[in-house]
Amino acid sequence: MKILIIEDEPALRETIAGYFLKEGFICEAAEDFHVALEKVTLYEYDLVVLDISLPGGNGLEVLRQLKKIHPETGVLILSAKNSLDDKIMGLDLGADDYLTKPFHLPELNARVKALLRRRVFKGSPNVVFEEIEIDPMNNVMQVHAKPVELTKKEYDLLLYFITNKNRVLTKAAIAEHLWGDYMDLADNFDLVYSHIKNLRKKIMQHGGNDYIKTVYGMGYKWV
Ligand code: CA
Repeated sequence: MKILIIEDEPALRETIAGYFLKEGFICEAAEDFHVALEKVTLYEYDLVVLDISLPGGNGLEVLRQLKKIHPETGVLILSAKNSLDDKIMGLDLGADDYLTKPFHLPELNARVKALLRRRVFKGSPNVVFEEIEIDPMNNVMQVHAKPVELTKKEYDLLLYFITNKNRVLTKAAIAEHLWGDYMDLADNFDLVYSHIKNLRKKIMQHGGNDYIKTVYGMGYKWV
């Protein structure tokens, strides 16, 4: 899961990002309005944690632009005390939830996970595809009801494929999903290939089918 933290207070931003990294998320951060707008325009996130008052502009405008381009991205607003208007406006613009500052990280974590469960996994606790079952909240994957040990990247890759089944995923899209925008994508194409190879092998070793098809010149597709 890929998450963007938009927050201008450095200590809070780093604390939140560090917390979600430890929770196993791919985490990016934006410190002002312009960086935030650029990131939500250029990249795709499963979830955005959005502070409303930002240097350079209003977080609600970031939300407006984000919803135009990626309406499926989940949004949790961080708002200051006594800013009821921001909350109402945010929910009107398509935010899913809000949290008033100050808050405790475990509360933010619980809200984020509930939101992802609703948005990405459509309320179902587990993701099932034929003989493969994934429990995304606990990072567990099973083939024919037997647990399969995956690395974090293999796990993210599998989830990315299954939640995008029948769609061609380019190597660039996969690399960006697995490593975020701060890696040199070209260097990662070999890594993408080897993670796919290992994931395939592990699924098949446990009696599963090979659902990852190579689409020549384009990328890969889960069918
Ligand atoms: Ca702020």
